[in-house]
Amino acid sequence: MSDQEARVVAQVDKRLFVGGEWRDADSGATFEVEDPSTREVLCAVADAGKEDALAALDAAHRAQPSWARTAPRERSEILYRAYGLLMERQEDLAVLMTLEMGKPLAEAKGEIAYAAEFFRWFAEEAVRIEGGFSTSPDGKARFLIMRQPVGPCMLITPWNFPMAMGTRKIGPAIAAGCTMVLKPAHQTPLSALALAGVLTEAGLPEGVLSVLPTTDPGAVTEPLLGDGRIRKLSFTGSTAVGRKLLEQSAGQVLRTSMELGGNAPFLVFDDADLDAAVDGAMLAKMRNIGEACTAANRIYAQSGIAEEFSERLSARMGALRMGRGLDEGVEVGPLIDDKARDKVQRLVDDAVGRGASVLVGGGPGDGPGHFYRPTVLANVPFASELSTTEIFGPVAPVLTFETEEEAVRAANDTEFGLVSYLYTRDLNRALRVSEALETGMVGLNQGVVSNPAAPFGGVKHSGLGREGGRVGIDEFLDTKYVGIGGI
Ligand code: NAP
Repeated sequence: MSDQEARVVAQVDKRLFVGGEWRDADSGATFEVEDPSTREVLCAVADAGKEDALAALDAAHRAQPSWARTAPRERSEILYRAYGLLMERQEDLAVLMTLEMGKPLAEAKGEIAYAAEFFRWFAEEAVRIEGGFSTSPDGKARFLIMRQPVGPCMLITPWNFPMAMGTRKIGPAIAAGCTMVLKPAHQTPLSALALAGVLTEAGLPEGVLSVLPTTDPGAVTEPLLGDGRIRKLSFTGSTAVGRKLLEQSAGQVLRTSMELGGNAPFLVFDDADLDAAVDGAMLAKMRNIGEACTAANRIYAQSGIAEEFSERLSARMGALRMGRGLDEGVEVGPLIDDKARDKVQRLVDDAVGRGASVLVGGGPGDGPGHFYRPTVLANVPFASELSTTEIFGPVAPVLTFETEEEAVRAANDTEFGLVSYLYTRDLNRALRVSEALETGMVGLNQGVVSNPAAPFGGVKHSGLGREGGRVGIDEFLDTKYVGIGGI
């Protein structure tokens, strides 16, 4: 580790953050955090268990009534200050994120800015929570509509966007007046702990947020989801785990927001601007090393441009520099672990076994980390396993189609429905296909849809609810109606 790297790791408190205090795990246990590009151990972090989870819940439950009563402007200003602190420390926080997650430093900096923007957006929303007043249709009563915080929340986040997936939940929860317990992914606890430090400095009162890294997620989450004091679960992660958590949430009939897996189709029509389509495909595929729920998983190119598109995409993918994300000029980091790399290889082998050809890449990279080379596969049969499975790696399979109907049918032939991408210059087709695609979001002639000011989320097995945009705060508010008679 360089001096800067050692310094940013040393700056983070490695203990649990419970009810405004930093403390060791009740059991005294710790676990190691690794750099996925070197497998070097970065540090040890406290490993939370059931007792710690219950202590965090006690704190959240205690703090809820007074936190719900704080002035919206006060909550807004805490978020503004946290936004400012994140941006002030963007460089150090990005180094920390790259160390634990592996993404190139430029992307980590981009994620800090994206993460901070959720705080700025929800600082603006905190003071705009509106209710209503109206007259009943028969004129005999009045309806007063109130919006109130749902109460203490359980937040569970994945490792692929260690900071932004946290702020996307914490921002609206703070704005709405909810307290919360955050369980980050075990691979990337440091960004979440750093975030707790930032929010404390920004003036977040004790008990509003607790952060519990753990190697035993069930030990932390199950007791809380089964305890009537938690009123909401907001989860980002795989569909398989999301399903399990939905079952666990049924017992206490929790409000749930589920940001789950994706299998994004990327459609390129013959009439597309090919330069823009290749740029868009690079972004949609390679952002975050392909480890994004929004990653283009299946690229459908119309037969007139399929060959040229594949060649141009291969040239761009083959030229990418892979390595440790903190090294100068690196554009592709390692995958998160060996399991992820083995899965990618299995999917590539399956497609090649069915007749796909490898235009570039096709195997692991060099070095001790979990590297996989940027890969383009052409002539991928529709029946390949990677058409139905989230790849979560730097592999771009190109499938060829003839007609618009065939492309839409293939795009929708999945249980997932997070995002799709569409490149065409025909306005009618753009609108027709955007309407027909069964996804919560569509990138029309653009390869990135994530934006704190827009409603992010999926349909089908990709999830429930939306994060960001005007509706993001709704997920953390209950609507109460007071019927007023005798007027
Ligand atoms: P994951 O295995 O589902 O883990 C996500 C989180 O759930 C982690 O904090 C994990 O903790 C926790 N978890 C795992 N098993 C649990 C259990 N039995 N009870 C309670 N918590 C549990 O997903 P991942 O591999 O970290 O993330 C990748 C997935 O997230 C992909 O499918 C991706 O598409 C999806 N994702 C979706 C979005 C979206 O907005 N739709 C955004 C980003 C990622 P541990 O770390 O301890 O296992």
